[in-house]
Amino acid sequence: MIFVITGPPGAGKGTQARKLSKELDLYHISTGNIFREIINGERQSDLSNKIREYVLSGKLVPDKLVVKVVEKELEKVKNKRGVLLDGFPRTLKQAKALGKLLGKQNNAIDLVLKLEISKQVALDRILERGRKDDEKAKIEKRFDEYNEKTKPIFSYYKAKNNLETIDGEQTREEVFQDILSVLKDHSLID
Ligand code: AMP
Repeated sequence: MIFVITGPPGAGKGTQARKLSKELDLYHISTGNIFREIINGERQSDLSNKIREYVLSGKLVPDKLVVKVVEKELEKVKNKRGVLLDGFPRTLKQAKALGKLLGKQNNAIDLVLKLEISKQVALDRILERGRKDDEKAKIEKRFDEYNEKTKPIFSYYKAKNNLETIDGEQTREEVFQDILSVLKDHSLID
């Protein structure tokens, strides 16, 4: 089982992805976490400095780099019931590259879950969280990137019939239960 969890900043992707991967024994790939690890890691390099610039300014990291990171991660998946991609793909180019990568392994995405949330509710949540890229201007940039570059992936997946939308403004537990019932509807879990 391979699925994607996506949505605007502050939608609760990370929280749901952690819970789901634990509960369903999935290999959790969060490109945001990977980039934060690289940025905060001890081994600083030109590459980690470049990534820091993008992430801290709220811009998307260039597609080629992101796809490379995901390709490497996919090679690590072993003894799991599936893969949960959290925050990837975020552009049409990434979505197409992912399709190719999975195709090589005779695999494909089973489902894309989009968490929907209004900008105001998302902003309130983000400001409570207080991460390093959570400054007001940077948050705005992340919303702009989402609207401009990520939204086009929804019509792409809709056309493939594997997009489901979930109301992300509910409580964590309600969102989680909604996700489980969508997975059941698609016969991905019992
Ligand atoms: P996240 O934790 O998913 O909100 O990601 C935090 C930041 O990491 C984003 O604002 C981007 O700068 C970068 N990032 C994470 N995933 C991607 C991706 N798939 N494509 C480009 N940039 C990404």
